[in-house]
Amino acid sequence: MTKMTQPRIALIAHDKKKDDMITLAAEYLEFLKGCTLSATGTTGGRLHNELGLKVERKHSGPVGGDLQIGAQLVNGEIDCVIFLRDPMTPQPHEPDINALVRACDVHNIACATNLSTARLVLNQLMISRAGAA
Ligand code: PGA
Repeated sequence: MTKMTQPRIALIAHDKKKDDMITLAAEYLEFLKGCTLSATGTTGGRLHNELGLKVERKHSGPVGGDLQIGAQLVNGEIDCVIFLRDPMTPQPHEPDINALVRACDVHNIACATNLSTARLVLNQLMISRAGAA
């Protein structure tokens, strides 16, 4: 991962993972306040309302929010994606989810799909930013 002063992070959580996303964001709150954040609609709303994070909110995932994040990523505007997927519940927008994860692979963008990986990625981003300061 390259050094970056203000990481641009996309945050997405499926409904049953939204509480996990809030827990994660609360753990990294001070770091995330210094990042440029975008999120799908409902996830972004919760991050803003419950933690006061400034987030660029896209549409909700099932109506195209994942694709909007994917477009940002393809345009080079996202450094990392935290996408807490629910592997136990079928999602109506499965094709959009796959498209976003595929776009991460095409463009070599870190994509954390569970809490353990998300913490590893955020820890590394914190180290990278400290090194760049
Ligand atoms: P949401 O979208 O944050 O608007 O719920 C997430 C998703 O289901 O992809």
